[in-house]
Amino acid sequence: MKICRTIEELTSTIEEIKQENKTIGLVPTMGALHEGHKSLFRKAREENDVFISSVFVNPIQFNNKEDFEKYPRDEQKDLNILEECGCDIAFVPTADEIYKQEPKEFHFGALEQVMEGKQRPGHFSGVANIVSRLFLWTKADRGYFGEKDYQQIAIIKEMIRQENINIEIVSCPIYRDEDGLATSSRNQRLSPEARKIAPKIHQILEKSYLQRNSLSLSQIKRFVEDEFEKIKDFELEYFLIVDDTTLQPIHTKNPGHGVVGCVAVWLDGVRLIDIQRYY
Ligand code: AMP
Repeated sequence: MKICRTIEELTSTIEEIKQENKTIGLVPTMGALHEGHKSLFRKAREENDVFISSVFVNPIQFNNKEDFEKYPRDEQKDLNILEECGCDIAFVPTADEIYKQEPKEFHFGALEQVMEGKQRPGHFSGVANIVSRLFLWTKADRGYFGEKDYQQIAIIKEMIRQENINIEIVSCPIYRDEDGLATSSRNQRLSPEARKIAPKIHQILEKSYLQRNSLSLSQIKRFVEDEFEKIKDFELEYFLIVDDTTLQPIHTKNPGHGVVGCVAVWLDGVRLIDIQRYY
């Protein structure tokens, strides 16, 4: 595995690969790698000649300084995992390297006026800055993203449309621990007691899914909110049922579109997100 720390090292390596007409799959990450990341790595490894991953805790996508500072970092462990997963190139830059050229402001209209975009102002512009740069520097044919960050996938698809970047966006299913908790780098900040409560997020969503034939979407929403309310350790930030393409909250299913429930909830000072498809 080649480790690149500068844009120049990365782009010159890419030039050589592209001369050989090889396909490139990219998995952008913020490190603290876990099984969820590994599920993306496996797919990228399988589907491309060359598999690149980046490890970069992107400061400009954090709207909360404490969250940025507390974000878990262990470079050596991450590099070992990447190597085990058959990664060809690990891009591990510093923030100074990435932002030699000032970030620009992206706008995504209605797509970013709900959920993560609404709760975390500037977050998606920050994500778009790093991801667009990674796409351009790596010349990737495919970019792999997890459905846990459901809104992020819609934003990235809109970003490549705005920037005219030719890349296939591959969305990958949520990887869960055995007890149903979606794996996340933030999970390691949960106390052992909170870790035992955390799987209830998925349990509540699954329970609501099982009632989808007897309840309206508004009733499902109320049901989920009530279930979270019953567990005092949770502080629900939002639960929205949205159209799977426009991401706008809906009360009835749009023909031909899917329906997804998206949740953000605080537990033990840690903000956790998850989704549930209903249709
Ligand atoms: P992060 O390092 O948290 O920025 O995540 C990097 C990529 O891995 C993003 O596309 C995430 O959506 C994806 N990812 C993180 N956790 C999971 C998971 N549990 N299942 C599937 N994908 C995930």
